[in-house]
Amino acid sequence: MKFSVRIIEWQNLHGRNNLPWQTNDPYKVWVSEIMLQQTQVSTVIPFYENFMKSFPNVLTLSKANLDEVLKNWAGLGFYRRARNLHQTAKIITDKYHQVFPDNYEDLVALPGIGESTAGAILALAFNKKGTILDGNVKRVVSRYLNVENNPRELKQSIKPFLYQNSPKANYRSFGQGMMDLGSLICVKEKPKCDLCPIQKTCLSFKKQDFIKTKKNTITKTQESFHWFIYQKNNKVMLCKNPDEGIWPNLWVFPKRELFQTKQDINELPSFKHSLSHKDFHISPRIINIPDDMETDDEKTIWIEKNKIAKLGAPKPVLDIVKKILNQNDKGLL
Ligand code: SF4
Repeated sequence: MKFSVRIIEWQNLHGRNNLPWQTNDPYKVWVSEIMLQQTQVSTVIPFYENFMKSFPNVLTLSKANLDEVLKNWAGLGFYRRARNLHQTAKIITDKYHQVFPDNYEDLVALPGIGESTAGAILALAFNKKGTILDGNVKRVVSRYLNVENNPRELKQSIKPFLYQNSPKANYRSFGQGMMDLGSLICVKEKPKCDLCPIQKTCLSFKKQDFIKTKKNTITKTQESFHWFIYQKNNKVMLCKNPDEGIWPNLWVFPKRELFQTKQDINELPSFKHSLSHKDFHISPRIINIPDDMETDDEKTIWIEKNKIAKLGAPKPVLDIVKKILNQNDKGLL
């Protein structure tokens, strides 16, 4: 039986067919594909559903202001993806009159849409020939061919193999099937070969040699800083980050002292927050200040703790606020 037929049949029986973005709406497929870059399906689902409530179609996304979009993206990280979504939504609205292009050349010309995302939109939304090259698909094919999963093999063997073995129809099930196989069966550690529909012709299985992808050995930069958490009247002070850099346009605690106060400082334990290229070592300090004390720093606001999530704040800020709220409930702060 042909490779593609085995994948399609397996997908129909055992693949994922109830994900919220599995429709023929290219807007939904596109948003989900961008969210799924670097992020797992189970993490993406609640973010995707909230995003769709705020921006149900490309027009609403294009008309939103960037702050709104970033607020809805808070917690997913890699904020450049949200900016690209916003920019692309404007192009699709203005240049394509809200109709997504259904050809590779126009799709890859859009901000944030690369070869694999264009392939996914073509295959999953339009049921057209499109090559998906996400991490799961690359792992399945590299193992199937028993080649290294590296850029050279991607060009010389993995991509040509996918291209030649693509079906003549039903591109949607084939693309989804390849991703599902990598995610559910041909997993990174201990692939479940006994359940695999392509086991009979898989070279890694035949040789019992499961080539491991070399781990990226990125040396992360380290940054340590304090967060000054000023509290009064059940409110905390936040300041808005600039629109470039880490957590652009999101609300965080001040990193520097804004008040000269003799009040007690409550040091919370330092913690590490890791991004792909950087580790932050954050030392939060809680300082209760008198009601009449003010700062003339225009970029700050006082906000009730339980309203911060709606404002748009990165995960470590939300985690700290949750901790403070719990400790306040227990009368510890
Ligand atoms: S047989 Fe095993 S190694 Fe080969 S593709 Fe299937 S799960 Fe992966």
